[in-house]
Formats: sequence, C-alpha cells, structure tokens
Amino acid sequence: MCQNCNYQKLLEQAGIDATANRIQILEAIGSNNYPLTAADVFKIVHRVQSINRVTVYRILDLLVENDLVERLRIGSRAAYYGLAPNENHAAHPHFYCIECGHVDCLQAKAINIDADVLKRTFPGEIIKMDVRVEGICKNCLKQKNH
Ligand SMILES: [Zn+2]
Ligand SMILES: [Zn+2]
Ligand SMILES: [Zn+2]
Repeated sequence: MCQNCNYQKLLEQAGIDATANRIQILEAIGSNNYPLTAADVFKIVHRVQSINRVTVYRILDLLVENDLVERLRIGSRAAYYGLAPNENHAAHPHFYCIECGHVDCLQAKAINIDADVLKRTFPGEIIKMDVRVEGICKNCLKQKNH
C-alpha cells in the first residue's frame, strides 16, 4: 500500500470529480505492486463496492486520458494498468513473463536511457517511452525445474 499518494487529491488535481468508484479504482491500481488487467481491477473493486464491468472500463479510460493511470500494452494479452508516473512514482520499465503473462514493475534505475540524447537525435517528437523486459518469471522457472 502506498503511503504517499492521496488518490482523492490526485483526482482533484487532474480536474475530475473524486467519486467513490474512481477513488477505489485508482487505489486498487496504486496500492498493487505490479500492473493489473481491467479484469483484475474489477475483481478487486467489486469486493468492496457494487460496480459493473462497463463502469470499470469507462473509469479506466478516464484515468488514462487524465494521465493518472498508464495503459501498458504488453505481449499479446490484455492491456495492463499501472499508476502513471507522478511526484511519488518515477517512470519505470516493466518485466513481461512470456510463459504466464505476469507483468512486474522494475526499478526505475534498473535501466538507463538517455532521454536527452534520444530527443536530440530522433527526427520526430517523443511523447512517451516504455521499456519492456521479457523473460520467464520466478514462478514459471520453478515449475520448469520440477
Ligand atoms: Zn504512491
Ligand atoms: Zn511466469
Ligand atoms: Zn509499473
């Protein structure tokens, strides 16, 4: 659970109403230490609040549009949602398990990209960078070794 983020305040700062559903969804994503699929978010929020899938999808879209949540398109599976970089959370690369599809957050400093060099040398405009590391997660490795 993140002690630093105030989800209600994040919503208000983005200029959108901090409704109970929105706070719950943002908190579900923010307090998890790896990115979640929309189905995961629904399962978590549904436990504490009566909400339907369509509402969850709509709110996820809204949170992505307002840069509170980032949508990660990783592998061929469903999109994953993680907290967008904010004052408490640096942008960071992600790990994708090619066996089970599990996605993990990696430390921001694990991979060094010189964004300034990229911006100077790339002939277009760079808006967002997403680094993906692929491999086999520790659970799948364990199963393989049995
Ligand atoms: Zn936080
Ligand atoms: Zn795996
Ligand atoms: Zn992440």
